[in-house]
Amino acid sequence: MRYISTRGHAPSRRFTDILLAGLAPDGGLYLPESYPRISRAELDAWRSLSYAELAAAILGKFVDDIPADELKALLARTYTANVYCHTRPAEDPQQAQQITPLRTLEPGLHILELSNGPTLAFKDMAMQLLGNLFEYVLGKTGAALNILGATSGDTGSSAEYAMRGKHGIRVFMLSPHGKMSRFQTAQMFSLQDPNIYNIAVEGVFDDCQDMVKAVSNDHAFKDQYKIGTVNSINWARVAAQIVYYFKGYFSATQSNDEEVSFSVPSGNFGNICAGHIARMMGLPIRKLILATNENDVLDEFFKTGTYRPRGTAQTFHTSSPSMDISKASNFERFVFDLVGRDAAVVRELWGKVDAGGAFDLANTAHFERIRAFGFVSGHSTHADRLATIRAAYEKYGVMIDTHTADGLKVGLEQREAGVPLICLETAQPCKFAETIQEALGREPERPATMQGIENLPQRFVVMETGAAAIKDYIQTQLAE
Ligand SMILES: *Cc1c(COP(=O)(O)O)cnc(C)c1O
Repeated sequence: MRYISTRGHAPSRRFTDILLAGLAPDGGLYLPESYPRISRAELDAWRSLSYAELAAAILGKFVDDIPADELKALLARTYTANVYCHTRPAEDPQQAQQITPLRTLEPGLHILELSNGPTLAFKDMAMQLLGNLFEYVLGKTGAALNILGATSGDTGSSAEYAMRGKHGIRVFMLSPHGKMSRFQTAQMFSLQDPNIYNIAVEGVFDDCQDMVKAVSNDHAFKDQYKIGTVNSINWARVAAQIVYYFKGYFSATQSNDEEVSFSVPSGNFGNICAGHIARMMGLPIRKLILATNENDVLDEFFKTGTYRPRGTAQTFHTSSPSMDISKASNFERFVFDLVGRDAAVVRELWGKVDAGGAFDLANTAHFERIRAFGFVSGHSTHADRLATIRAAYEKYGVMIDTHTADGLKVGLEQREAGVPLICLETAQPCKFAETIQEALGREPERPATMQGIENLPQRFVVMETGAAAIKDYIQTQLAE
């Protein structure tokens, strides 16, 4: 299996070659040169597999430069009940052993729990694998990696919990000082692992991101200090997420003759991109329902054909903050498929996007393909979110987080009789306690492992904005 760039001007590479890479050298994103098609016999055989076994079967199709038995062992270590199932009481003891339990709200309506990992958000599903893959590959070469990132919450903590204690890896994570929730701050800053560096920047999230960009653009510094990233364009993160679409399908159906639809709360288009690939591989998915919050750039595209990314100044701060994104970094992968994998077209479209503009595919054969790909979309507002959280709690006794609520709201709008609907749960409600309090008038439940984390000692440094400060800090830490 080789990987090609969506912009067509980069040499093809193998899985472990692109594992630590970000963008392809031509500015595109890596994708498999073709999607492996799953036979009916394989689908039948996969139905009874455990999560780790299923991951080995699926990822084995995308990875041919790690020996199969070593990949299998790595996946068994990654997707184990020790890591995923300790966070909340399951409905029945059998479910407690599952990595992604399916919670049935009513016949034909389900929530696929993806937030039972260490940071209570679905990003753990992929990031935990990334941590083990990085360690594996670096172990082979004896190389080191210094991950530099900016976070306003979920991604940073997920990366830190995936990389903590990993040999050869350090994480430098910038966050806006005093701007994350107390819970998120505690989750990150209470880590005492010496390879985790929490840096509270005296500025806003954009300042943090600018610092990361400035360092990434300094190629000499980047090479000398082995700087890498773990952002959502990383192919291995997308690949890891394909697995739970298969698992969710098997959990919600009796046979492989059935179709299901998935509803996916979306920001950077990483999660639903994995769903698209699962469908291209032959998983019987009827619809992929994309849900946004008030930042509805993607909903606009799927409704009108116009992709009009907005600047950070026009991005709303909402109560589903992990979807406050106005330029979806993984979207280029999907559009590559939509335009029939014509890299010249992608280059033309992203020429406009990279220059701060928009593109319009309305009334083209490309846009017609959206229906063939099963995509529909909708968006949600703060009021919708509150109403959905309330309705789920009153009707089903289930507490859902704000992002999952966006997915459920839009999913119900697009639900079809006779087609099971699986809503992907992307975080646990206790991460967004303020909005839960507003919706339900009570505090969300919190897993035992997270009780009182705000009272733990915190380890972080405060830093002024600007690339010079972070470069200086990295140099000093690596010299020690
Ligand atoms: C990251 C995130 C999302 C959005 O996922 P994408 O892959 O960026 O589309 C949704 N919900 C939560 C809780 C997240 O952390």
